[in-house]
Amino acid sequence: MNPLGNQYSRRIQKLENLIQSLDLEAFIVTDLFNIRYLCGFSGTDGILVVSRGGVGFLTDSRYTEQARAQVVADHKIEYRIKNEGLINFLREQGLSRVGFEAETVPFATVRKWRNDSQKIARWIPVGEELLSLRGVKAPSELEALEEATRISAKAFDSVLPLLKPGIQEQEFSLELEIAIRRLGAEEKAFDFIVASGSRGALPHGVASERRIQAGELVTVDFGARFAGYHSDETITVAVGSVSPKHQEIFEVVYQAQQRAMDLIRPGIPLQEIDKAAREYIHAAGYGEFFGHGLGHGVGLEVHEFPTLNPRSKDVAEEGMVFTVEPGVYVPGFGGVRIEDMVVVTENGYRKVTRLPKELRTLPC
Ligand code: ZN
Ligand code: ZN
Repeated sequence: MNPLGNQYSRRIQKLENLIQSLDLEAFIVTDLFNIRYLCGFSGTDGILVVSRGGVGFLTDSRYTEQARAQVVADHKIEYRIKNEGLINFLREQGLSRVGFEAETVPFATVRKWRNDSQKIARWIPVGEELLSLRGVKAPSELEALEEATRISAKAFDSVLPLLKPGIQEQEFSLELEIAIRRLGAEEKAFDFIVASGSRGALPHGVASERRIQAGELVTVDFGARFAGYHSDETITVAVGSVSPKHQEIFEVVYQAQQRAMDLIRPGIPLQEIDKAAREYIHAAGYGEFFGHGLGHGVGLEVHEFPTLNPRSKDVAEEGMVFTVEPGVYVPGFGGVRIEDMVVVTENGYRKVTRLPKELRTLPC
């Protein structure tokens, strides 16, 4: 038995509860992040079938060995043709009311399932009820997230001396990526954002060929992936001394983040956390320059449940990990974003990211 078997059986139990409450006979999991979460498989093709009769894992010959070593399941089946393998398994197990992931299964796949399984199965899309499955992190998940943030902080500190007038955004981004890989990350978490000077007004300004100049703010949004888990943080630094307006915008964003984080505790609706930051930025006169949501969950995916924005219905729970990332983006002038990851604790929150976010002025 896999030593993590207990952990996976607890997770499968959550899905079994959902199967029960939706009056299904089985649930088909094809989303690879959900598969990894529920049974440990980290390959790139397979199907997990959870039913009241047990757990089946289906994959092809490329992954049979890997599945044997990684996957915690009652039945492990090798298929030659994916759909055929799935339908045969459902038929053998006598499963007909079958739920699937409405958010990630392509329509064409559902149509094929329906065509190939006539009179055998009914396919029921499950959306919202499934989203929160990975919302609360287990201690082992938190450890992986913390290792990812440790790596990214160390990497950032190691390349910070390169952030000088004349370096291209792309060069800096590459050095940061190399440092992250060298320090033990599997991969960068996403394409880094390095936005200097007026490009700082682009909330998603992926690193360009632009050369950084003295007297500019530089916003760096980056992260590492460790054991499948991601870090995601944003730091804005000054290269040489910046104008009073730059400093003012920085201070507004910094205070907005603080106001939002002060509210974090179990039970608080996440839209209220968003609101605290939004109202602070609005009152400071920059409301029109903060368009995006305040944050998002982070885990096996960089963006996952829950969501912090004005329409969010999600509520903070102990063990949830999400970002708090207010920003102000003034077209033609520049911008600031500050982003930390937090974990909700019994009485409040704790930061998962490690870099201090006060304005640092780099020598140049
Ligand atoms: Zn980010
Ligand atoms: Zn983010």
